[in-house]
Amino acid sequence: MCRYRLEPTPEQESILLRHCSDARYVWNLCVEQENEHRPGRGRMPGFAERCRQLTEARAENPWLAEGSVIVQQQAVRDHLQAMASFFAGNCRRPGWRKAGRNEGFRIVAVKPGDVRRLNRNHAAVRVPKAGWVRFRWSRPVPDGVKSFRVTRDRAGRWHVAFAVIPAPVPGPGTGAIVGVDRGVAVSAALSTGELLHCPSLSPREARRLRSAERRSAKARRGSGRRRAARAAVARLKAREADRRRDWAEKTSTGLARRFDVIRVEDLEIKTMMRSARGTKDAPGTNVAAKTGLNRGIGKAGWGLLVRRLEDKAPGRVEKVPPAYTSQRCSACGHTTKESRESQAAFRCVACGFACNADVNAARNIAAGHAVKAREGDRVAGPANREPQLALAPA
Ligand SMILES: [Zn+2]
Repeated sequence: MCRYRLEPTPEQESILLRHCSDARYVWNLCVEQENEHRPGRGRMPGFAERCRQLTEARAENPWLAEGSVIVQQQAVRDHLQAMASFFAGNCRRPGWRKAGRNEGFRIVAVKPGDVRRLNRNHAAVRVPKAGWVRFRWSRPVPDGVKSFRVTRDRAGRWHVAFAVIPAPVPGPGTGAIVGVDRGVAVSAALSTGELLHCPSLSPREARRLRSAERRSAKARRGSGRRRAARAAVARLKAREADRRRDWAEKTSTGLARRFDVIRVEDLEIKTMMRSARGTKDAPGTNVAAKTGLNRGIGKAGWGLLVRRLEDKAPGRVEKVPPAYTSQRCSACGHTTKESRESQAAFRCVACGFACNADVNAARNIAAGHAVKAREGDRVAGPANREPQLALAPA
């Protein structure tokens, strides 16, 4: 996804806002239809059927017909995709959309002439009913754009994102393998010994964020103070997300270019996050600690990095089962909890090999087979179940 800052004129902005509210309205109609649906009353209507219903609704409601049919149809499609994703277990059930939050709409059937360069720093994209809307040319728009999404963040900034899957980055062709371990203190450790840090907010910005959050919590609802504080929070969070995205893009390109095989732990981060919260019947154990860890994972932008790697190095990313990678000595293979001196330090009690703990784990991930050898007799148990024998090379 290539995002650009969109700079609509005030007139265009009101049209874009109208598109947003149309998309939200149609989305919420879909949510309502989904909520009213009871099992045994047949299948939920698909895209074609819902588009037909939309045409009917447009015929009966002139104000709806005034809006863009593409925007409205794509809201139907977005909702169907969100439902499919929910059924696949990838996300929560799509819920109501509120004004001012996750506002946006999608335009499809984009033709090559619909994006044009204006000057060194600006270009324009054709948006139905709004005409040519300027955006900042922060990098070239990739060829073959078929659709784009326009969004408005909580800070009121508009963005346009052109949907393209990043082109594969050719590997070096030397068979080079790298293991990448995600860490909390260090965002990613490579088996080469490199430690990569995903940029976050500076201490000063983090302080400003905390104080804005406090101000917003204290201020009266609906007051100007509260609005200002919330806008400040949104701006800082958006800045943090931008840095994370940027880091994931650059890091994934670098890794895809330098290595032919990239091995990562097979972590179902989402499942982990969900299980940390626990359910009402079985509240998660150790919730506080896990929440902190998960916040670290989220901050590190790990999921985004892996997704980008899979886009840029298709077929070259391998997922390795995660057990024991932090306890196993990457030099001699001895595996015990005792070797983990601290969060940051690893010192093998058998051979004395000492190393940054995350780098040691990354080296185990690069070796890849470490835990697979054990798969046959593995019981789904905790990671400290005396794995030494089973880890010996078969
Ligand atoms: Zn050792």
